[in-house]
Amino acid sequence: MKVTKFGGSSLASATQLKKVLDIIKDDPERRFVVVSAPGKRNAEDTKVTDALIRYYKEFTSDKDVTQTQQWIIERYRDITEELGLKETIIQEIAEDIYDLTNLPKKGNPFTYDAFLAAGENNNAKLIAAYFNQNELEARYIHPKEAGLTVTAEPSNARILPSSYDKIEELKDSNEVVVIPGFFGVTQNGDICTFSRGGSDITGSIIAAGVKADLYENFTDVDGIFAAHPGIIKHPHSIPELTYKEMRELAYAGFSVLHDEALVPAYRGKIPLVIKNTNNPEHPGTRIVLEHSNDHVTVVGIAGDSGFVSINTSKYLMNREVGFGRKFLQILEDLNISWEHMPTGIDDLSIILRSRELTPIKEQEILKQLTQKLEVDTAEIEHDLSIIMIVGEKMKSHVGVTATAAKALSENEINIQMISQGSSEVSIMFVVSKDQEEKAIKALYDAFFSNN
Ligand code: ASP
Repeated sequence: MKVTKFGGSSLASATQLKKVLDIIKDDPERRFVVVSAPGKRNAEDTKVTDALIRYYKEFTSDKDVTQTQQWIIERYRDITEELGLKETIIQEIAEDIYDLTNLPKKGNPFTYDAFLAAGENNNAKLIAAYFNQNELEARYIHPKEAGLTVTAEPSNARILPSSYDKIEELKDSNEVVVIPGFFGVTQNGDICTFSRGGSDITGSIIAAGVKADLYENFTDVDGIFAAHPGIIKHPHSIPELTYKEMRELAYAGFSVLHDEALVPAYRGKIPLVIKNTNNPEHPGTRIVLEHSNDHVTVVGIAGDSGFVSINTSKYLMNREVGFGRKFLQILEDLNISWEHMPTGIDDLSIILRSRELTPIKEQEILKQLTQKLEVDTAEIEHDLSIIMIVGEKMKSHVGVTATAAKALSENEINIQMISQGSSEVSIMFVVSKDQEEKAIKALYDAFFSNN
């Protein structure tokens, strides 16, 4: 049995919904369908979720909401009319959109979430009605009925572990179950959403709950590419990735799937596949617990900008007990989260995301490093990028770093730092931001040019 989740672009129009119907009909094992709100039909379009945010803002600041309300309703109407659905369904959706203004305007932290959730909720109703009208018996189920109980953290909910047993009961359903993604219900009955893009999380939770054989996540690309298509023309799609590799790639900017979505499926040991609604024959990318063969060393090359490095040096630093702790204490006191710590004998650098710093915090750090830690030099280097070479099987292969370093040197790219965790899932290079693209191209050529 499979849980199949469709993202917003797969549900943006009647044409897309027809593809969705075919995909579900094509495989009787697809018993659970989790849906996003309608997404963009083209680059200039607005996602229904974003329109709902506008609607909420107008409502809470006492502005006229009519235009936005109508825009949202028309968005659904376009779909229902083109699909030839009964008038009752669009009436029900319109009523639900109007009724949002009956929610408390002030003082309720869940009003915002209830507005946003309406995008997915109405889409799930629409899709279940569409399936039923086309010889596919389906049932819309609200997350409350499904047992998706979450923590009371507005716009950042987490699933309560007790939910899984209740969700398992859905297994007995005879119809295809259609569940709106992105939100659950708190123990007090409030609607509470996950963070943005959170329908992926719902799909993963349902897959873990019903103990599915597979969690299929349908989007608009042929899986996860081995490098960013904005940098490498037509990169190949990775056939198989482990959860750990996926996490590393996501860290360095690959954003096909919501970060938190991996957790329930991983814990439930459910394999996941990312597939393309517009090209369902393509096998996509499977995310598995362990690779099925030993041949793949490097699975992908990712790069991300927006890093800075705090570099310090002090003669005989290696013999000074407590230097590292005191350095980190300075950051902790300023509420700064850091990412990597490459070291030499007498120098230590901390790499962090630039958003963690402000000019005032930077001054304070430099002052404390000089005064409290009495370093010989301290500087903050901006505009850095990290490049990650990812592959769990690197551990049992010799020469990956050598190949990478050779490729970078042949392209005159200066490696500012290298770091590799003991699990050897990835090797990270720090380069200056203006060399990031060139570095990714050089590494892609070095590792994938034969594919
Ligand atoms: N519709 C929500 C968003 O745009 C959730 C999702 O699509 O996953 O963030």
